[in-house]
Amino acid sequence: MSEQYDVVIVGGGMVGLTLACSLGGSALRVAVLEAKPMATDWPEDSIGLRVSAITHASRKVFNSIGAWQGMVAQRITAYGEMHVWDAGGDGVIHFDSAEVGEPSLGYIVENRVIQSALLQRLTEFENIDVMAPACWQQWHDEQDHICIGLDGGGQLRSKLLVAADGASSPVRERAGIMTKGWGYDQHAVMAIIKTEQSHQHTCWQRFLAHGPLAFLPMHDHYSCVVWSTAPEQAAELVAMSDAQFMAQLGEAFEYKLGRVIEVHERGRFPLRLQHALDYAKQRIALVGDAAHAIHPLAGQGVNLGVLDAAALAETVLASHAMRRDIGLLQNLRRYERWRKGQNIAMMLSMDAFKRLFGSPLEPVKRARNRGLNAGHRLTPVKRLLMAYAMGDRSDLPKLASS
Ligand SMILES: Cc1cc2nc3c(=O)[nH]c(=O)nc-3n(C[C@H](O)[C@H](O)[C@H](O)COP(=O)(O)OP(=O)(O)OC[C@H]3O[C@@H](n4cnc5c(N)ncnc54)[C@H](O)[C@@H]3O)c2cc1C
Repeated sequence: MSEQYDVVIVGGGMVGLTLACSLGGSALRVAVLEAKPMATDWPEDSIGLRVSAITHASRKVFNSIGAWQGMVAQRITAYGEMHVWDAGGDGVIHFDSAEVGEPSLGYIVENRVIQSALLQRLTEFENIDVMAPACWQQWHDEQDHICIGLDGGGQLRSKLLVAADGASSPVRERAGIMTKGWGYDQHAVMAIIKTEQSHQHTCWQRFLAHGPLAFLPMHDHYSCVVWSTAPEQAAELVAMSDAQFMAQLGEAFEYKLGRVIEVHERGRFPLRLQHALDYAKQRIALVGDAAHAIHPLAGQGVNLGVLDAAALAETVLASHAMRRDIGLLQNLRRYERWRKGQNIAMMLSMDAFKRLFGSPLEPVKRARNRGLNAGHRLTPVKRLLMAYAMGDRSDLPKLASS
């Protein structure tokens, strides 16, 4: 006996859960399969290591699907300014939300806060089932649906199977969708730290010879550090004592916020650029990191995924309203056309930034410092960069427009 669904989403990360909420309350029956148990509570004084810079476009999606208040009620930090400078010269650029008449440029939110608020919201929808921990084992196509065998026994039938299972996506692999990309030969070291001085609700980023070092503001004097560097240095930074780490970090950051006085958990993550050649096949669609993984230097990865989720939900609901089969490739193509170009544009610009700031060549260093300082002065260029970073662009899904 198999359970019948319209949409089965594999992966209960931030993007999979956003998609599920975007379909909440509709006439579609939806299941989310997540391999790991899902945490919704943790010790009050703990701080999650993984955080994301969230754009206004993502905030609007979270608000439209009724999950933003749940995040605000837990913990978010709005940031109004961004300060970027180059260790290889005198280039500086500063962005201030006041210049574009906004109260903030974006928000820093712990990933676990985003996930738990989405999960909490999902409990309010009768048409969504969350299965965790749960994994698929195999699937086969039947005429008008896909038949998914579960690890512990049991079967689900669905019109559409969505891969929201991250960069190494087993669903994408099994579907035979190829990817293109390259490793950056960099790891991002993440750590939660406290500084002597206030972060001033500003995101700070210094471009060092081996990669960018960012301080993302959190509550009180806490910041989340994202330090992208050579894998060997990343391994050392994670293994060294707290005292050594705080000393090296303070120095690398030019003591902009005084000394680093506390450090919590540390971890490192390999960085790569990866893009799926197709976002859709018959009865299959890819969202989030399953479709694209990008360098975190501008904090855009999950924001692209949130827009994928909103766009796919809109496409699927429109097909359903027209009584079309939501899993047919011809209907899913609209989603692919919508998101692929925008994602590629963002990936390539982040890649270009990474290369530009990683170059040791003196003429390139001089040119980028001139560019930074020019951007510092020229308001139209800055406006464009700010709009880009805030997720303000044309052709947004309806959930991101209100
Ligand atoms: C160092 C670093 C910093 C970053 N900072 C930012 C930032 O500031 N802003 C931003 O926008 N982005 C940022 N990103 C990117 C962001 O973290 C990712 O884009 C985002 O996590 C992708 O979400 P996802 O839901 O697509 O995938 P994931 O977060 O990878 O979630 C996939 C889920 O699928 C589950 N899964 C996997 N396989 C199976 C299976 N077989 N069955 C069931 N479930 C399965 C996993 O357990 C997981 O829960 C950063 C990334 C890194 C590495």
